[in-house]
Amino acid sequence: MPADTTPSTQTAGPTVDGDELIRFEKVTKSFGSHTVLDSLDFSVDSGKHVTLIGPSGSGKTTILRLLMTLTKPDSGTIRVNGDYLTHEEKNGALVPAGEKHVREVRKNIGMVFQQFNLFPNMKVLRNVTEAPVTVLGLAKDEAEQRARELLDLVGLADKADAYPTQLSGGQQQRVAIARALAMRPQVLLLDEVTSALDPELVAGVLDVLRDIARSTDITMLCVTHEMNFARDISDQVLMFDAGHVIESGSPEKIFGDPDHERTREFLSAVR
Ligand code: ADP
Repeated sequence: MPADTTPSTQTAGPTVDGDELIRFEKVTKSFGSHTVLDSLDFSVDSGKHVTLIGPSGSGKTTILRLLMTLTKPDSGTIRVNGDYLTHEEKNGALVPAGEKHVREVRKNIGMVFQQFNLFPNMKVLRNVTEAPVTVLGLAKDEAEQRARELLDLVGLADKADAYPTQLSGGQQQRVAIARALAMRPQVLLLDEVTSALDPELVAGVLDVLRDIARSTDITMLCVTHEMNFARDISDQVLMFDAGHVIESGSPEKIFGDPDHERTREFLSAVR
């Protein structure tokens, strides 16, 4: 049976309230017979730092991958800034989005992965300037100036001419953060960004992210097992289980006095 990717409303347009940046509506995603996300609804407001927590396999990474269009929903809609990621308007009707539309909407989104995925054959500076020059069409000088500012922000101003293999995992991850920010995204997606690091390198990366959260107005959507970090930087925490948000609230509420027994079990298992 063909997947139902028809949005619930047939008219495109500025249907977003206030400053809502991301909106998932009835998003379902299965792999084979395993339904990972089940009619999922949630939203993220502009400028907020939202953290997704929950057991392994509950669908958190899948949410980030859907936003990056690395995978597609079986049904439901995803909007970024009011624009459908999965659909576009043609002749007054919504149709499945073409590549150009997806690229435009996705320009607003940056992602940092567990494995840093730097270009090994390029120096650090070029890793950060490559996409702004080739995708955004920035002049090389301007891209380099911005890249140096960002390398400074992540504490690596002196590593611009190093190759990724000459850096520690923590330093590589900080380059990956600078590279994502170089595209000036409105939202930064962070997928377990410290889970591939040796324990002594975790704090440096989390400190950089805390700084970015404090000093910029970027929206963040984080998947993390670092509960102290989640408590520190989050405006809102969403607890996931089996493809649903089972509860959401401030870090004080979720970590201090959760309503749901599953949340209590999960938190006592990871603490
Ligand atoms: P989480 O981030 O919460 O650990 P994921 O979103 O990574 O969860 O995965 C949710 C479930 O979807 C897991 O059971 C995982 O094995 C499955 N899954 C994710 N990606 C794929 C894929 N490409 N093919 C098959 N199964 C997948």
